[in-house]
Amino acid sequence: MFAKGLFWFRRDLRLYDNAALHNALTHCSQIACVFVFDENILGKLADKDDRRITFIWKSILEIQEKLQKLGSDLFIFYGDPIDLIPKLSSSISAEAVFTNRDYETQALTRDEMVQAKLNEKKIQFFTSKDQIIFEASEVTKPDGKPYTVFTPFKKTWYKTLDNHEYDFLASYPIERHLKSTGVASRLIQKEEIESIRLKLSKPGRNEPVLQVRSLSDMGFVEAKDLIVGAGSAAADEQLDSFIKTHLLSYKDQRDFPDLRATSNLSTHLRFGTLSIRKCFRAALNIVRAQTEPKAKENAETWLSELIWREFYSMILQAYPHVQEKAFKPEYQNLMWRVDEKLFQAWADGMTGYPIVDAGMRQLKQTGLMHNRVRMITASFLTKDLLIDWRKGEAHFARYLLDFDLASNNGGWQWASSTGTDAVPYFRIFNPSLQSGKFDPEAKYIKEFVPELKNIEPAKIHKLEFSVANYPKPIIRHDEAKNAVMSLFKRTTAMKDKES
Ligand SMILES: Cc1cc2nc3c(=O)[nH]c(=O)nc-3n(C[C@H](O)[C@H](O)[C@H](O)COP(=O)(O)OP(=O)(O)OC[C@H]3O[C@@H](n4cnc5c(N)ncnc54)[C@H](O)[C@@H]3O)c2cc1C
Repeated sequence: MFAKGLFWFRRDLRLYDNAALHNALTHCSQIACVFVFDENILGKLADKDDRRITFIWKSILEIQEKLQKLGSDLFIFYGDPIDLIPKLSSSISAEAVFTNRDYETQALTRDEMVQAKLNEKKIQFFTSKDQIIFEASEVTKPDGKPYTVFTPFKKTWYKTLDNHEYDFLASYPIERHLKSTGVASRLIQKEEIESIRLKLSKPGRNEPVLQVRSLSDMGFVEAKDLIVGAGSAAADEQLDSFIKTHLLSYKDQRDFPDLRATSNLSTHLRFGTLSIRKCFRAALNIVRAQTEPKAKENAETWLSELIWREFYSMILQAYPHVQEKAFKPEYQNLMWRVDEKLFQAWADGMTGYPIVDAGMRQLKQTGLMHNRVRMITASFLTKDLLIDWRKGEAHFARYLLDFDLASNNGGWQWASSTGTDAVPYFRIFNPSLQSGKFDPEAKYIKEFVPELKNIEPAKIHKLEFSVANYPKPIIRHDEAKNAVMSLFKRTTAMKDKES
């Protein structure tokens, strides 16, 4: 048992069912909590009204308010966590730091550096699994190697859950530990936090620490158009409402972007304002209670999507090279087309293909894009325009409120056929057929491409219209098909020659 500890919030912005917070509370007599806005990440953001920063800011204010009600407070800093975490730990005389694991390469390197600095000060560093149910080493093929195909991964995933009687979904009971025991509070009290704050913000031997009291302290402004409510209360509401209204029809409706029939929980799962264990528990309980096979199938399909998230996290952990390179080595050096004009037309939603343009405009206007349309737009960039998937991946990373490196990379490598268990390279989404099938009345298209509001849906799908201010198709889909076939075939042929 440690006398004092520090809990470091990252992508787990909630005060319930939090693995590392539970670990801290059960191993320390008293703890303090901190969130650091990492200057290395924020410094690279292009938009000062980045929606993610507003989402994080509002979510941590919710946490801060709860901690204040418990007599404590949240340290909120801006800077380099590699310096700040050890500095703060020393200031509060912490003997250990607790945090939840992050699997991205940059985060792993950062954590190694934090750990090394803490160890120099004889402070211990503990990490916990929290953002997924199973880590890569927990669901493997019988020979211990990672899966590269989704369906067998999913089977073993369920089997592992079953074998442990669903223990992996158990909630970490934080609430009872947060309360005072007798006169002693488990949280370092406000007054002490305030005096440490003061000490750290004064120029002394070291640079003063930047305490964040508003977004403008970091050079950001509030995004006014956040369409996902921040914080864990909003996440719970969203989960409840999805379960009540759409879970049992999910499979039938999820592909139609105008129906808004998916959960819209990806942002909450990304920032941990919703516990993934809670999500699985809630959905599994419904699946088990269903007697009607069709309803059960619908709910099971949603569970499958959550397992795709686990699958891509596993791929990132087991094959970190995917962050820069194609998963399949034979597709590492495809001769993608370099054409800034075509790329810009795609990014701006001005390709002349209404479903593609609607998706790209939804992304910029809202920070989100429906999954079916993510697949269509990603296929269009890589298979119709023949532009490198990494350019599309980076564009999504800039705008997506739910941006998650593992899922975004997985989605892009799937669509471009360079990834694991990806769509075969000869399967090319036909934008006209896709929009006719999934947006038959062109409601979604008209919402984001108002230039087409007076055009009949059938004409929109067949591209049989002409409207001022809206471009003609920038490429012919039937010709693009041949080009992509020869691009991939050329590589396959080269590979055959080499081997
Ligand atoms: C090119 C491309 C890029 C993507 N980038 C991201 C990203 O950066 N962040 C992200 O969370 N998802 C990403 N996805 C997956 C998917 O589009 C979103 O998770 C989904 O649209 C979010 O909406 P929802 O919460 O309503 O999902 P629902 O349909 O309700 O699904 C429930 C949850 O399952 C997970 N999920 C669903 N589909 C997938 C999937 N294909 N891969 C991984 N997890 C999934 C998400 O956490 C989601 O919230 C991407 C997909 C593609 C094709």
